[in-house]
Amino acid sequence: MRVLITGGTGFIGRRLVAALLARGDDVVVLSRRPESAELDARVGLYSELDQIRGPVDAVVNLAGAPIADKRWSDKRKALLRESRLKTTEQLVSWMAGLEARPEVLVSGSAIGFYGSQGDLELGEEAAPKVDFAHQLCADWEAQALKAKEQGVRVCLIRTGVVLGKGGALNKMLPPFRFGLGGPIGSGRQWMSWIHIDDEVAAILHLIDHETLEGPFNLTAPRPETNESFSKTLASVLGRPCIFRVPTPVMQLMMGEAADLVVKGQRVVPTKLMQSGYSFRYTDLEPALTQVLKA
Ligand code: NDP
Repeated sequence: MRVLITGGTGFIGRRLVAALLARGDDVVVLSRRPESAELDARVGLYSELDQIRGPVDAVVNLAGAPIADKRWSDKRKALLRESRLKTTEQLVSWMAGLEARPEVLVSGSAIGFYGSQGDLELGEEAAPKVDFAHQLCADWEAQALKAKEQGVRVCLIRTGVVLGKGGALNKMLPPFRFGLGGPIGSGRQWMSWIHIDDEVAAILHLIDHETLEGPFNLTAPRPETNESFSKTLASVLGRPCIFRVPTPVMQLMMGEAADLVVKGQRVVPTKLMQSGYSFRYTDLEPALTQVLKA
């Protein structure tokens, strides 16, 4: 199988590239800077879709400016949207012009799609609450779904907080390593996490199963509250968990983007489990232990 990945140089993309190569698939990556991509020499690197010759069987669309790196100014919000919507639009119009279309498009989204809904368990059918993150995900998904009109199967991956070496954990770890970590705000808000191995394996599962389409929550079956997540993280590191970060401090540091950690959502992978996917990491402690100690 030949798989095209946008965002293949990123935290999730690099692991996906490695997993595809390991099972013998061919991989091509679309990157803004192919010359500095530092991927396996077997990967075909392109900066323009039109440079890609020959058929592609599957497309995985992960490109987008980092969500939690900076405060959400109007300019930043515009970049977060444009970097996802434009790439996806270009991808779909490129596919429309191909003689042989890919069988499947697995396209990025996030659990931010649902907005914050307290303790309510959110499966794929849940009605969303509208905020900036919801609108971004909804528009990103709508753009990808246009590929359906070309007969392409579309899977939308509503991804939770991915736990691996790098990514969101890199930001959380420093205070915990110094014994200064702790819950944020009330600590009652939910954190829907997924181990990077499951994120990658679930994407492969969606590529490989021709009957699967539509939105899929990519989160472990047992989300945790921020308080229990913090306690487990501290315990895996052998550090105390006595401090608490007040909500206003997070808001001062991150502005509106603080909603990502101050509010959160309790998401469950209903459709992935119904489809027969078997999680490698259902519980947080072994997942964190693997990431931090392996
Ligand atoms: P990364 O930030 O690690 O990688 C994303 C890739 O997108 C980069 O490698 C880069 O590729 C490309 N990119 C960056 N900025 C821009 C831009 N301004 N315009 C176009 N392309 C850009 O992301 P992750 O691997 O962590 O996540 C992949 C996708 O999944 C993202 O869209 C993210 O929002 C989503 N997601 C991730 C979660 C997580 O916990 N990691 C949680 C929920 C959703 P290049 O430089 O080669 O062009």
